[in-house]
Amino acid sequence: MSPQDTIASGEPVRTRVVVIGAGFGGIGLGIKLKAAGLNDFVILEKSDSVGGVWRENRYPGAACDVPSHLYSFSFEPCADRPRKYADQADILDYLIRCTRKYGLEPHLRFGAEVAEARWDETSNHWIVRTRAGAVFEAQSLVTATGQLSKPVIPSLPGLKDFTGPAFHSAQWRSDIHLSGKRVAVIGTGASAIQFVPAIAPLAEQLTVYQRSAAYVLPKPDKVYPAWQKTLFRNIPGALRLSRMLQYLKHEATAFAFVAFPSALKVKRPAFRRHLHAGVTNTDVRARLVPHYRIGCKRILLSNDYFQAFDRPNVELVTESIREIRADAILSADGTTRKIDCIIFGTGFAATDFLVPMTVTGIGGQDLRQAWKDGAQAHLGITVAGFPNFFMLYGPNTNLSHNSIVFMLESQIRYVVACLRRLRGARSIEIKPQVQDRFNTRLQQRLKHTVWAKGCTSWHLTADGKNTTNWPGYTFEFALKTRAPKWDDYAVR
Ligand SMILES: Cc1cc2nc3c(=O)[nH]c(=O)nc-3n(C[C@H](O)[C@H](O)[C@H](O)COP(=O)(O)OP(=O)(O)OC[C@H]3O[C@@H](n4cnc5c(N)ncnc54)[C@H](O)[C@@H]3O)c2cc1C
Repeated sequence: MSPQDTIASGEPVRTRVVVIGAGFGGIGLGIKLKAAGLNDFVILEKSDSVGGVWRENRYPGAACDVPSHLYSFSFEPCADRPRKYADQADILDYLIRCTRKYGLEPHLRFGAEVAEARWDETSNHWIVRTRAGAVFEAQSLVTATGQLSKPVIPSLPGLKDFTGPAFHSAQWRSDIHLSGKRVAVIGTGASAIQFVPAIAPLAEQLTVYQRSAAYVLPKPDKVYPAWQKTLFRNIPGALRLSRMLQYLKHEATAFAFVAFPSALKVKRPAFRRHLHAGVTNTDVRARLVPHYRIGCKRILLSNDYFQAFDRPNVELVTESIREIRADAILSADGTTRKIDCIIFGTGFAATDFLVPMTVTGIGGQDLRQAWKDGAQAHLGITVAGFPNFFMLYGPNTNLSHNSIVFMLESQIRYVVACLRRLRGARSIEIKPQVQDRFNTRLQQRLKHTVWAKGCTSWHLTADGKNTTNWPGYTFEFALKTRAPKWDDYAVR
């Protein structure tokens, strides 16, 4: 039955598990649910296809910054990647291929944006409603809605008066041709450093408005020669070895991020050399040096970002934006620059977990109310007062040093174990004291991490609480999530 059928019949679609979102998380979970013989599930996706951030972020130059052999499912290695760091099209293609190979199509419902989910205490089921009015009733609910799927556009004075196209990098307008245009880029985060060099040769004039500079290091990218791809395809273990080596290399840096931030200073000389090699103008170079401790914001990788500022048609503006006018931007120093098109590289509302969905648990408790001091969960997965409710890429499961897909696989294993348990139980719910103990310890550890002080970043709420990042090693997370401890749960 499709959502449209539900509306027609007025009857809810009954299923065992509702999964929300069809990115790496939702697809990975779907595959593992089938493998566990849990075939009664639907994946609701608000868009019209799978892929998550890799469907949305189609800006020129979009690519991952974790090597592809690692940024892929461990059970579905990709031997045929043309280069070490796959681009957006390759990653999206990979997710589409996974969907087909593992037969997830019958489970997917597109155009199904979930507006609300309510725990019904009479039936011990979740009642899930989409914006279009379709209703699903399920024993369990799993959200796989990502941390980086809500683009942020700053509320700049006068923005609504701007008459040209203005869009976020995650909502790229491929119908807008940038050649011959005076383009303004606002923001210099992970996406901007990828698309600035790609559009610099097209635009007549490119003005980059920077609030804070980024630590950008060389990207050790390469095209895999044919022999190496043959090796990965045909020699048993070669691809696994490549993945393992990349994993260890990334994991080795965790120590600096989570326990000994000063160690990250060893990367500064490489940053300086990279900057010097890329930018000849000493004034521009000076303004591209960050004034916060390295690692506090994500360390970025690019081989052509700095070089873009050596182009005669690219200008770096570090004064803040005072006002946007119909065809111009006025900066704080009083300079007005004529602009035809504005592109926002201003990131995502990462700490607004599950917004704008309404999730209601036991006793009508609103999850937003439960999270008024910042989102939190047990292991980033389960929340007290919300039985049979699980999150993937939930609070404090993000990383700065390794692959999110690795973290997602750990969470998926844990959630599948819980869902198996629910075949013989009505509900499971994390005990509040267990969740509190876990989060008290987690926040204590976060105080010693590189994200704790020295900069503002998307990891922190307005109150300065880090609700996004995992403060440890990924193998530690994998161990903690290896199997649920049933004593931590009220199993009914
Ligand atoms: C540009 C970019 C580059 C990145 N590069 C890397 C990298 O190199 N390495 C790395 O480890 N991580 C990277 N990430 C982080 C990335 O978010 C994760 O790696 C991973 O893709 C998250 O997958 P997900 O399925 O959890 O979430 P997402 O990919 O965000 O998917 C969530 C899905 O849920 C859907 N959805 C949301 N709300 C609803 C709703 N209410 N109803 C129905 N559907 C809904 C969305 O449409 C989306 O399809 C990058 C992120 C971005 C934005």
